[in-house]
Amino acid sequence: MNLLDSVEELKGVGPKTAKILYKYGIRTVKDFFYNLPRDYENFEAPTSISEIRPGKVVIRGKIDSLTTRRARKRNLSITEGVIRDKTGAIKTIWFNQSYRMRQFDPDKEYYFTGNYEFKNGRYSLISPSAALVSDIDPSSGLSPVYVAHGSLKSHDFKRLMEKSRDQFAKIPDLLPTVRTGIRKDALFFAHFPNSLKSAQGARDYLAYEELFELILAARLNRRENEKLKATSIPFDASRVKDFVGRLPFKLTNAQRLASWEIFQDMEKDTPMNRLLQGDVGSGKTMVAAMAAYEAVLSGAQVALLAPTAILATQHYEKLRDLLEPFKITVALLTGASKNKKNLKENIKNGKISLVIGTHALLTDDTEFLALGLVIIDEQHRFGVEQRQKLVLKSPSELAPHLLAMTATPIPRSLQLTLFGDLDVSVLNELPKGRQPISTKIITEVETKTELYPKMQEVLNKKPDPKGKSTKAHGQQIYWICKTIEDGGASLGMDGSKLGGGSEVVSVKKRTKRLQEVFPDKVVEFLHGKMKPAEKDEVMGRFANGKIDILVSTTVVEVGVDVPNATLMVIENAESYGLAQLHQLRGRVGRGSSMSFCYLLTSGDIPPSRRLRELEKSSDGFYLAEIDLKLRGPGEIYGSLQHGALDLKIASLADTKLIHRAQVDVEKFLQNPENMLKYKELMDGMVKYQQLTTLN
Ligand code: ADP
Ligand code: MG
Repeated sequence: MNLLDSVEELKGVGPKTAKILYKYGIRTVKDFFYNLPRDYENFEAPTSISEIRPGKVVIRGKIDSLTTRRARKRNLSITEGVIRDKTGAIKTIWFNQSYRMRQFDPDKEYYFTGNYEFKNGRYSLISPSAALVSDIDPSSGLSPVYVAHGSLKSHDFKRLMEKSRDQFAKIPDLLPTVRTGIRKDALFFAHFPNSLKSAQGARDYLAYEELFELILAARLNRRENEKLKATSIPFDASRVKDFVGRLPFKLTNAQRLASWEIFQDMEKDTPMNRLLQGDVGSGKTMVAAMAAYEAVLSGAQVALLAPTAILATQHYEKLRDLLEPFKITVALLTGASKNKKNLKENIKNGKISLVIGTHALLTDDTEFLALGLVIIDEQHRFGVEQRQKLVLKSPSELAPHLLAMTATPIPRSLQLTLFGDLDVSVLNELPKGRQPISTKIITEVETKTELYPKMQEVLNKKPDPKGKSTKAHGQQIYWICKTIEDGGASLGMDGSKLGGGSEVVSVKKRTKRLQEVFPDKVVEFLHGKMKPAEKDEVMGRFANGKIDILVSTTVVEVGVDVPNATLMVIENAESYGLAQLHQLRGRVGRGSSMSFCYLLTSGDIPPSRRLRELEKSSDGFYLAEIDLKLRGPGEIYGSLQHGALDLKIASLADTKLIHRAQVDVEKFLQNPENMLKYKELMDGMVKYQQLTTLN
């Protein structure tokens, strides 16, 4: 048996089973062994049926009289049966688990565990899990529980695992470890634990392995990047002084340090691979502008990629104003650009030095003469392939420098593992004079008494001095809704219908209602289904203060900068993730006036930890750590790679284990022979490297 053989090589896995396993990503013998139980059921110390009490119970007995029927409510099947031991019999019942009909042999003994409770007029054991007595190690009483994949249920996996029990001995070690055979033992005890402690120990080791692989991949990425060549962009102090001198404000220290780090990187003839992290409003665009300025003045072309047309347009306007005084040609390329052909020609012949755009930049016919720097804003919004596409647009052998920016701070633990190949600059300081955003969870019943009066107050305030409002008075408001039109089912974060009876009011309906409440104000809406030109037009008027209340979906989430908007309402706040809420909230608090954010909930259930944390803190780095704990890395690291980063075993919150793996990876790399010796490990690296690379 070879770990990379198809699962079909395993005993008990025929073509039909293999097909299902394949569908769920279990293709090889290795995948099969690494499909670890999600939990362990404890069948220790069963009670006899005559002594059973309501509540959680473990019993041991035979089962018969199984029947399944459809309940009157559609989509519900009810499977019932009788469990007996020497002392008595009880009824058991499962909902929507008709496969239980074929799980049991009436002559065999099983353990059952579940809640014994009063339901539909009688006591029964409700939806118990079950395991063959002969399958359970009597010393531990533990039974693994596997995630069901299609028609393959937990007990099917158990049965298959049992058939391969003698194969574990053949599994070779993956990495150099303190003890040979530790990997096969770990895998074995994860599937056949003789105590909870041994199961935990097994999982700890496998988690360590997983972290080792991630960290190694990141280190290898860095090595590969160091082998590439790039055009050096010499740092010119007087040039930079010239630029900074024209700014209407002083750079923050963090901005100065970050740009210094970037200039240093770009001077080298290996490509920069830097991530600029900065909380919303920390002024990343300015840092990007300086990098672009330096690059263009030394003869390189620069491409800036943004996730939305609104954002690209805003960057374009800002950078054009900043850079055109230096005779730098700046262009905007989005799906809506009219003169695309002409634009692309001028990008290709080098007449355009800095092009800012959306996905439209990525098409094959966008070619550059001398692409020297790629800047990616909100980089977590893009997938690996998309980022790569842009980087590969450099026509020469030389790779462009890469600056990726994100406002979703990457927790330190992720930085050490997944992004160990990156150099990171941090803007941990907001420009002077920013006011904190007062955040408050409020319930629907408080809308009239508290929220509307507050909105009225803000709408009547003097405009923020930082804004470019053309109105004689008034600050502005964002109101964020979940759906565009009525009737669209709205889903919560977990994909469930928004519970608690909370009403989901659409953008359109909300616009109408707010117009009624504030009849003399301009209330308009914005959403992702509008044409790009329409969106830009609305956003433009909002930025110029011509719209008082902008009702919108989350399209305003990223980057948009309107300093005169000082109040935001997020309706159905419970349905967003922490990172997203923080990003949304970052649209206000950009001027010098006090800003407010109201998290509107139905009030039917107590506010979640997410909302409470958001109410307490405006520190994106702190919130990112919390988010990592609450949701896991896959969620944080962007929708496009969604799922890819979900570690099977390791927790990225386990800093101790991460540290240990890190130290061991360094040792591993010091001996070049290891790369040849641990072939399975190295072969697996490709996948991990793709997952973690930035370019
Ligand atoms: P983000 O980091 O969220 O992308 P932006 O780059 O959009 O932030 O900057 C937010 C706002 O702060 C912009 O209006 C920008 O002009 C302004 N800004 C940037 N740097 C400074 C600074 N050093 N002092 C004052 N305002 C600044
Ligand atoms: Mg930004």
